[in-house]
Amino acid sequence: MTKNAIFWLRDDFRLKDNPALSYASNNHEIVSTVFIFDKSIYDGKREAQKWWLSRSLEEFQKDLSKYNINLEIVEDNQVSYLKKIKAKDGISIYWNKVYEPFEIKKDDELIEHFKDNKINFKNFRGNVLNEFQEVKKGDETPFKVYSPFWKNAERIFLEKIPSTDHKVKKVKLSKNLTKKNISFKDILPKKNWYKKFDKYWYPSENKANEYLDGFIKNDIYNYGTKRDYPSIKGTSKLSPYIRSGQIGVKTIYNKCSKIKSKNISVRKYINELGWREFSHSLINYFPQMLKGNLRKEFDKFPWINDKKKLSLWKKGMTGYPIVDAGMRELYETGWMHNRIRMVVGSFLVKHLRINWQEGEKYFRNCLFDFNEANNVAQWQWVAGCGADAAPYFRIFNPILQGEKFDKEGEYVKKWVPELKNVPQKFIHKPWEMEKKYQEAINTVIGRDYPKPIVIHEVARKEALEAFQSLKKKN
Ligand SMILES: Cc1cc2nc3c(=O)[nH]c(=O)nc-3n(C[C@H](O)[C@H](O)[C@H](O)COP(=O)(O)OP(=O)(O)OC[C@H]3O[C@@H](n4cnc5c(N)ncnc54)[C@H](O)[C@@H]3O)c2cc1C
Repeated sequence: MTKNAIFWLRDDFRLKDNPALSYASNNHEIVSTVFIFDKSIYDGKREAQKWWLSRSLEEFQKDLSKYNINLEIVEDNQVSYLKKIKAKDGISIYWNKVYEPFEIKKDDELIEHFKDNKINFKNFRGNVLNEFQEVKKGDETPFKVYSPFWKNAERIFLEKIPSTDHKVKKVKLSKNLTKKNISFKDILPKKNWYKKFDKYWYPSENKANEYLDGFIKNDIYNYGTKRDYPSIKGTSKLSPYIRSGQIGVKTIYNKCSKIKSKNISVRKYINELGWREFSHSLINYFPQMLKGNLRKEFDKFPWINDKKKLSLWKKGMTGYPIVDAGMRELYETGWMHNRIRMVVGSFLVKHLRINWQEGEKYFRNCLFDFNEANNVAQWQWVAGCGADAAPYFRIFNPILQGEKFDKEGEYVKKWVPELKNVPQKFIHKPWEMEKKYQEAINTVIGRDYPKPIVIHEVARKEALEAFQSLKKKN
């Protein structure tokens, strides 16, 4: 065993249940955590995540220093950087897996290189309940439908022998192993956009555990009934923490399992964790989804390439208050409520008939919780071209969705303040207010807030026709 070890930090910013970090610290005198920032993955593509990353590194550094583990941040291509390590350097390398085809490819290349060059290494299970290869149908083919997938996945997880705690051990204080370190501040996005994120989020392991404990104590019993209402705290808001591994899904699952009386809401919450595993399984068995429609018949869908409407959608200026509130929440906070993600997604692909890939790209750039598996699978679910997807002909009416899930208009008024004077009756259809009344409340539609960029009934009809035409073409 070498004296020195590197824990290659990818999506596991935590001390608890971190198998690679635990192994490194229990088997080596000196351990460095190395984060390799590859600009090409983030610049112009995942801008919001740069803030989350930068803050996560800042917080994790504090946690690691209690164990004398250095956090070293370097800027490079991840594979090239790790390949520079030579056997004579006497360093062992450990990491937890990340389950996206592009990341798995890196692992394969590195494993081959380390073996050829006699470098000691080991990779461990990443932040999942099961590795995707473990969950297959009896005939060894992958699941395409969620319910049987999750039934099997949960059984397989529960049948496993529970792993040890993976505790991290204090190591010997040392100098940095790498020479050209950058600071977590160098990762921040260039735009001042990120400055407001501090108001909403604190990216640390402690905060993630606090969120989970608070959620289990106060909210989980009502999750089933409250999860669809964006103006109340009905969901856990753990997704950015799960995405960066500030909390492990095993920890979440195990804590939920310990709840004595599990009502339907508790089951529902646990079930949601399964969707994340399902998405990982889908993108690995059907990697073509990352580039296009899983259901090939959608390749002939008559999408409209309307840059102006796409831009209005991104800015939250469509004239449909519930859609605009969601898009503004996203830009302001780096997160959006699940119900509203479905509404804005449906509006883009059905009312505007813009290709789901445009929405996927925009979410990728703005969401802290963006991960390829969930984002691609969920966008295809919304568009109707994915696995176990919502049928294309089921078109959300943005007025009714608003009236049902934001009855009082609290969510809309929070994110679209120019509608603050609009009474409840019109909050999801402000264009129906009489002109005189609009003047009286100083909210003139077309002046203070946009007119709807499409008429719901017309857009709905055209979307259905487009879908019918698809049937004829295939
Ligand atoms: C168009 C669209 C794009 C999406 N993109 C992403 C994405 O990039 N990353 C992401 O994590 N989620 C994505 N989702 C799924 C979902 O909206 C978020 O996971 C959820 O809103 C996160 O909030 P929460 O932590 O409060 O969720 P909770 O309701 O508290 O759920 C707990 C956890 O379960 C997982 N989960 C919940 N719903 C889903 C789901 N439908 N699919 C997969 N996992 C789920 C998440 O890890 C979440 O944190 C997307 C949904 C849609 C409709």
